[in-house]
Amino acid sequence: MAVYQVVAVPDEVLRTRAKPVTKINQGVLRLLENMRDTLYEMEGLGLAAPQIGVGRRVIVYDVGEGLVEAINPVVVEQEGEQTGMEACLSVPNARGRVTRAQRVVVEALNRYGEAIRLEGEGLVARVLQHEIDHLDGILFVDRAEWVERDRA
Ligand code: ZN
Repeated sequence: MAVYQVVAVPDEVLRTRAKPVTKINQGVLRLLENMRDTLYEMEGLGLAAPQIGVGRRVIVYDVGEGLVEAINPVVVEQEGEQTGMEACLSVPNARGRVTRAQRVVVEALNRYGEAIRLEGEGLVARVLQHEIDHLDGILFVDRAEWVERDRA
């Protein structure tokens, strides 16, 4: 088990476009495991590789229905609109109101290199969009109508 320190703003890696995974090797499998361990340790809903300092297009999430891993995820369909509060492990002590698509379809690869299709509505759709944004160097604060910061 390897829990990583989650990278926080203003670290450069959070603002850099992550590179696609071209080959699923031991390094990628280890990355998936470290991301899973870190996600559960930090009690987050989702985590993108740049958040542990790795500039690769890999995300993991668990909204209470088990862990989902996605390599090179791409949103291929989106519809509707939802507005809700978001927070991010990489932006400590902040929350903001963000409008996103209500439903998305994402194509990706699983750890075996097989094409997978993830469909999500509501919270799942929100988490997918938030994590895929991380791969493009975008943070929820960029999309938020307003951001509330705790003085913790
Ligand atoms: Zn985040």
